[in-house]
Amino acid sequence: MLKKRTIIISNRLPIRIEKQHDTLEFLPSEGGLATGLGSIYKQDDNIWIGWPGYIPENENEKILITEKLAEFNLIPVFLTAEELEGYYEGFSNEILWPIFHDRLPYAIFDKEYWRLYKQVNQKFCEATSQQQLTLKDEIWIHDYQLMLLPQMIREQHELISIGYFQHIPFPSEELFRCIPWRDEILSGLLGADIVGFHTYNDTKNFLNSCLQILNLPNTNNSVISRDRQVFVEVFPMGIDFDKFDSLAQTEAVQKKANEIKNQFKDLKIILSIDRLDYSKGIIERLQGFETLLQKHPELREQIVLYMLVVPSRDTVPQYKALRDEIDRMVGHINAVYGFNSWTPIAYFYNSFPLENLSALYVAADVCLVSSLKDGMNLVCKEYIASKAHRLDGVLILSELAGAAKELTDSININPYSVDSIASAIHLAIHMPVDEQRKRMKKSVEIVKKFNVFHWVKIFFNRLREVKTRQKKHT
Ligand code: UDP
Repeated sequence: MLKKRTIIISNRLPIRIEKQHDTLEFLPSEGGLATGLGSIYKQDDNIWIGWPGYIPENENEKILITEKLAEFNLIPVFLTAEELEGYYEGFSNEILWPIFHDRLPYAIFDKEYWRLYKQVNQKFCEATSQQQLTLKDEIWIHDYQLMLLPQMIREQHELISIGYFQHIPFPSEELFRCIPWRDEILSGLLGADIVGFHTYNDTKNFLNSCLQILNLPNTNNSVISRDRQVFVEVFPMGIDFDKFDSLAQTEAVQKKANEIKNQFKDLKIILSIDRLDYSKGIIERLQGFETLLQKHPELREQIVLYMLVVPSRDTVPQYKALRDEIDRMVGHINAVYGFNSWTPIAYFYNSFPLENLSALYVAADVCLVSSLKDGMNLVCKEYIASKAHRLDGVLILSELAGAAKELTDSININPYSVDSIASAIHLAIHMPVDEQRKRMKKSVEIVKKFNVFHWVKIFFNRLREVKTRQKKHT
């Protein structure tokens, strides 16, 4: 008898392939999604389909990689350099990413990008169909690189269960309609049975786009598309709470955290961690910090902004310009406000191992997230989980990050307002410990309960419920 399988599909497989002296090394990825879905795709006949992050040099290498990955239940979709450029760097990162993060002027509506986006989504569809799908299978597609895939699979498998989850925001209808291929994208998503987002706002924007662009009305968060009811719902993603909580308590992390605290003796540490991206509000954060130093000269020599920026896409002109501007502003603030014994900003353009991140979370008095737009933001949840034991620390969180909808005990800021950022930092560093603990305790409860495993569970439960309901109506 055929068994029920779960099929996860995402742009990247949860693995990294590195070539060292003619041998290929396969390294597991530690990302949040890989952790959350790890216990699922590794079981039984379940599989994960995606790009392995490597372009094979010849057919033999392709076969070798395919065989090796099969041992981990992973199915590779090989992409050419041209496909990666058009589908990933082009359509996904130069059209969808800026539009979905409210940066219309950054979008480049290149027809070639669209052609390759369709071609690669088709490639993913073929790789999925080759798995001899049955009606028992459940498919979960992840993120904006694969928005056409739900409908492509649906055309071949009318009744199969398909869920789609988007990890980035969904923009307002006015912005979304600027994409020349907006109808096809919406129709692509409506091939799913459930379209999931991090926040209620994203679902509202998506439903409004269906209404205004495709003329599809909605009732009770669902749309009827080609005689099928598609549910559009909220599933805020969580983190592996226990991992961050227990790591924070290890001897190695405690030692590193103490070293950081000693390095910045008597200073309150304000921590920020993000990828280099214009959506993260890094410039606004620096302006807010400078405003604070101007307004409150007494804070000089009392605080330090520890800013870790993880390198990303820095060959793309906008990212390169952002990096240059960060360098300039950090240099300016340190030169103008610092002196011999005190440097206001400790800036690192690097990526840190997990243990070091954990130590930073433990050592930081304040975590400052100032995204101008963010699907969820996991850094703030990792900070909360790392504080679960001692309950000290304050989170300053942009009201435009998805996490702000859940972490209502943080200090909320409007990231476009430098005064809002400055006064939030002032409030945070002066917050009495009792108040810190009271707020942190509530946040910890939320991050602990709505962890990544809970997120996976409720998504699948809901997919099953929706499918059962659809069957009753047919
Ligand atoms: N992170 C990392 N290495 C670093 C710094 C951060 O792996 O040197 C991780 C961090 O732990 C978090 C993720 O990168 O899990 C960032 O996720 P978030 O949702 O905050 O932002 P995104 O980059 O996905 O937009």
